Amino acid sequence: MPVLSKSVSYCLIVVVLGVLLSGVACADEGRQYFVNGQPASADLAAAVNILQEGLALLRANQNSEAVDKFTAAVVLAPDLPAAHHNLAVALAKVGRLQEAIEQLQKVLTLDPNLSPALLTLGGLYQSTGQVNVAIQTYREFLRRFPKDSEAPKVANLVKGLEAVSAATAAAPGADSPRADSSDYLAEMLKNGTFRWPDMRMPIKIYVQRGENVPGFRPQFTKLLIRSFVDWSAASGGHVRVSQVDSNRDSDIECMWLDNPSSLSNPSESGEARVFTDNTGIKRGTIKLLTVPLSKELPLTDNRMRQICLHEIGHVLGLAGHTTNPADAMFFSASVADEWRELSTRDSNTVTKLYTLSSSRR
Ligand SMILES: [Zn+2]
Repeated sequence: MPVLSKSVSYCLIVVVLGVLLSGVACADEGRQYFVNGQPASADLAAAVNILQEGLALLRANQNSEAVDKFTAAVVLAPDLPAAHHNLAVALAKVGRLQEAIEQLQKVLTLDPNLSPALLTLGGLYQSTGQVNVAIQTYREFLRRFPKDSEAPKVANLVKGLEAVSAATAAAPGADSPRADSSDYLAEMLKNGTFRWPDMRMPIKIYVQRGENVPGFRPQFTKLLIRSFVDWSAASGGHVRVSQVDSNRDSDIECMWLDNPSSLSNPSESGEARVFTDNTGIKRGTIKLLTVPLSKELPLTDNRMRQICLHEIGHVLGLAGHTTNPADAMFFSASVADEWRELSTRDSNTVTKLYTLSSSRR
């Protein structure tokens, strides 16, 4: 019997954020202030010092405290691009993405040649589901800053986004999240219908031990199991799962890895594969990275939760992506460091998939 294997490429596309440093402020004995060696006003020098404190908070993932610092810096130095840029990054991380985009547009009017600002702007368009605007912004970045060290990564992102754009092009308004439809099953079934047959319920889950994998935290296992349980509940009980202690007895094997190059696409945080026979899905694997792909976006519990929900969706048969950032199957990693629950659309979609009449399979 032929066994089909499917994996979804361009899964959870990584977001690249620009980094903009503000320089160093100091004062001489005559109370003249300097920034990067140039004479400066007291307000500007104070703003630069506050920016340094804000950047330390941002690195420690204390994002709302960083918003307060950068807001103060913007008040003191409204024409300082770094203040607006870093405020934008902090706002995005607390989920205030529209305000973040406005701050970046302000940066680019102050100084159109700031490549990190253009890069961050592309990242925010991407993570709000504005695929075509993100592609345009990244292309402008590549055209204007072809020698930038991030250019190869950005070129790869453009390829991933073009694939998403092509996959969603048939639907009207593909550039804005289709929040009006109550589910996204049609987008998931474009390449055929895959689901676990009733006779394989409950689906037996084996989670590898991760203690020896660099970056692993025991909390990751709890997040993964909770995410399986949440999908099961969201399906109205049509999907049932149980955890087993041995891979030999399992239907789905979950693995922890610290090396991005062991995934098919090294710019992804996880990977799901399903294997099918003529009854439906017969086996699945999930690989999860224990290390962040960029230091601007540390692998917090919130981010691991998002990755778990997404990869589990694939292994349950949701074989596509959406452009609505609220969906578990949204195509991009998130900039916002926020806890995710499955949405009503996620729940409606998985329930519909598992209650389709068998003639449609
Ligand atoms: Zn995916």
